[in-house]
Amino acid sequence: MTDFYSRIPRHIRTVIAAAMIAALTFSAAGCSGKNSSSQTESETSQTSQTAQSSVQTSAETVQTETSAETAAETETETETEEKVSIKGVVAIDPGHQGSSVDMSGQEPYAPGSSKTKAKASTGTEGSYSGVPEYQLNLDIGLMLRDELESRGYEVVMLRKDNDTAISNAQRAKKANESGADCTVRLHADGSDDSSVNGASALIPSADNKYVGDLHDDSKALASDILDSYCDATGIKNRGLSLRDDLTGTNWSKIPVALLEMGFMSNRSDDLNMEDKAFRKKMVKGIADGIDKYFKDHPSKSGGTITAGGNGSSGDSVDDVLKEIDSAKSSSEPGTVKQVVSAVNKKYLASSEKSGEKWSLTLVDLFAGTQADVNGDRKMLSASVLKTFIMAAAYDRVFYPSSDSAIKMSSSKKSDLKKLVEKMIEESDNDAANSVVEALGSGDFSKGMKVVNTFCSDNSYSKTSLGRRFQGSSKNGDNYTSSNDCAALLTAIYNGSCVSKKASNEMIDILKAQKLKNKIPAGLTGFRADAANKTGELSGSSGYVENDIAIVWGQEADYVLCVLSSDLDGKNSEAADQIAVISKMVYKDFAE
Ligand SMILES: [Zn+2]
Repeated sequence: MTDFYSRIPRHIRTVIAAAMIAALTFSAAGCSGKNSSSQTESETSQTSQTAQSSVQTSAETVQTETSAETAAETETETETEEKVSIKGVVAIDPGHQGSSVDMSGQEPYAPGSSKTKAKASTGTEGSYSGVPEYQLNLDIGLMLRDELESRGYEVVMLRKDNDTAISNAQRAKKANESGADCTVRLHADGSDDSSVNGASALIPSADNKYVGDLHDDSKALASDILDSYCDATGIKNRGLSLRDDLTGTNWSKIPVALLEMGFMSNRSDDLNMEDKAFRKKMVKGIADGIDKYFKDHPSKSGGTITAGGNGSSGDSVDDVLKEIDSAKSSSEPGTVKQVVSAVNKKYLASSEKSGEKWSLTLVDLFAGTQADVNGDRKMLSASVLKTFIMAAAYDRVFYPSSDSAIKMSSSKKSDLKKLVEKMIEESDNDAANSVVEALGSGDFSKGMKVVNTFCSDNSYSKTSLGRRFQGSSKNGDNYTSSNDCAALLTAIYNGSCVSKKASNEMIDILKAQKLKNKIPAGLTGFRADAANKTGELSGSSGYVENDIAIVWGQEADYVLCVLSSDLDGKNSEAADQIAVISKMVYKDFAE
């Protein structure tokens, strides 16, 4: 994963670090941060005397930042494994995934197209080795990552295991968002004719309606890789082939080449590709080709670093901070950490200072990464808790596993379904109380236990139901955390909450939401879709404004959960602030 700070010239980062230590005035005492020696060792001899001395400051600051982070300070980034300069950023896509992952669902094969293809396929298999293609692709992908990193590249792996469900379009989007210069897709071929052998590379044609403009660079990338690969391995070179039907290519915004490394249906290719020494040659060949490509097509990010590194080290702090500001408002989407840090700086930190309590969690649903501010803090849930009650009803009644099933006649089940819909879509409190009662076979406190057991079974550890909706909070209240809400919505999005079918039905109910004044309001005017659940309390029962949502955006899908309390009556201001945060997140992250 690349982040903004790693692209800033080292000497400038040092100044930033120094600026932060000055601004934050945190003490480094008593903190066991990383040893500074690795940083100093990695300095080049080109570095000036001035930069050398400030490296010490930088190392100390890294320690300080570590302690600052535990103090919920998220505006700083911890940098411990910096490289002096990078040659470029390469996204590696090991084709396919494990056969247990269901990728049969459809997706548009290109942006805006009505033509669809399966999200991904399982690939071929070695006729002689018996090894599945997805495993070979992953093995070579991980070896290639290590090789490229040792040569000074930054690598973005589009999958790192066989179990992650990430579609071809999502892989391309993830690569686009990562800031990579190009994508290398790894595959192997199969044929009914076992004598067919050799390697080829697939690229979009110049006439490709979606990515025709990537043809020239993709062609250079593909031929550099294919030629070096065949030289290094002795595998037959079958040449380039123009393909405009590949989803993972059509969604790309950066040059992309798909290498078919050999035929798994051919004895010699198949067994060679399983040979340890041969694999080293394969990886060396691909990396040599990438080196050649970057020689002619210097990295955009790497180029920036080189230019900065050659400049003077006397940039003023003001200049550097300006540089950060301008980079952050650029069209490049940020990482979750950058976006959350910016939101915290702009809104949450000052609200907290005024005595309000704010928690926020943002999940990048393609990358699987997340960042939060006070994400584990126990907060008054108000009606966002109804989302957990819905999930508990699905778990125990609609799609129960045999041992946890609450038996109910089918007419009662359909009554319950209607109550669940009313509880979510209109946030109806009577409906919510009735759902809980139904889960307790008519007994509210028994139903409360069912909900709480569901939450603890699924590690929603800060979430609990302690009272009826609109009931007295004398004996307990209703709680959750933004991280718990984010985990639930992420599971629903991924189809892993109760079951795929149950998750899809829950998405439909959440999408039918009628209360859209917060997170969905911030998406007005964007090509985005949301499934959300609000929560609010006013008057003597507290001052709470919450909203949690799954957002399907143009460039990214994400979960955003914002919880606020202790608002001192300023509910409408807080609701507006959530809408504004929603807009900022969308613009920085998914536009
Ligand atoms: Zn394949």
